[in-house]
Amino acid sequence: MLKIGLTGGIGSGKTTVAKIFKQLGIPVYLSDDRAKALMLENESLRKSLIGLFGEQAYVDGVLNRAYLASIVFSNDEALTKLNELVHPILQKDFELWSSHQQSPYIIKEAAILLESGANKGLDKVVLVEAPKELKISRVVQRDHVEYEDVLARMNKQWTDSQKREHSDYVISNDEKSSLLEQVLKLHDIFSDQ
Ligand code: ATP
Repeated sequence: MLKIGLTGGIGSGKTTVAKIFKQLGIPVYLSDDRAKALMLENESLRKSLIGLFGEQAYVDGVLNRAYLASIVFSNDEALTKLNELVHPILQKDFELWSSHQQSPYIIKEAAILLESGANKGLDKVVLVEAPKELKISRVVQRDHVEYEDVLARMNKQWTDSQKREHSDYVISNDEKSSLLEQVLKLHDIFSDQ
């Protein structure tokens, strides 16, 4: 069974692409969603987060995402520490999940797949790309946030050309080329291997 990484910058449309693979019957692991769930479910991760960020990390047992975001957004060291805590646990969770799947291939969707080194152990990487202004306007519309805030988050990620160097396939989500056609082409390639 092939393990395929799916990544792309903020607003590129990787979740949208992941949903198409899911519609085709392919098991999809959404790393961000699982990370959020593990921060709630995993007792040792919960303790580590409280140790790192204080009791305010949780309010009434619920992860205080606004508080955590406010810290890691302005503090790169805190963001690195958060990632260092979450990634090994997420990696194990992914391995367990994938061992239960029965499919010619599976998809692991992650925003910082390449930056975090989570592409190691995957067979192929698919990168979703879109023009910068389009990515920003999508996120502004989706999250009701400011242009500058999206740009600041974007500037913390690798550029598309850096990501391309570590990717095997590129999907262009520029709203001109057909997304479905590009996904179907990859689906055929991965199903045949
Ligand atoms: P993030 O890293 O911020 O989670 P993402 O790469 O997962 O972003 P999506 O959430 O898939 O991106 O897409 C961002 C927004 O753009 C969503 O509201 C989505 O519906 C919209 N979008 C993505 N692709 C297209 C498209 N081809 N046509 C129209 N809207 C699109």
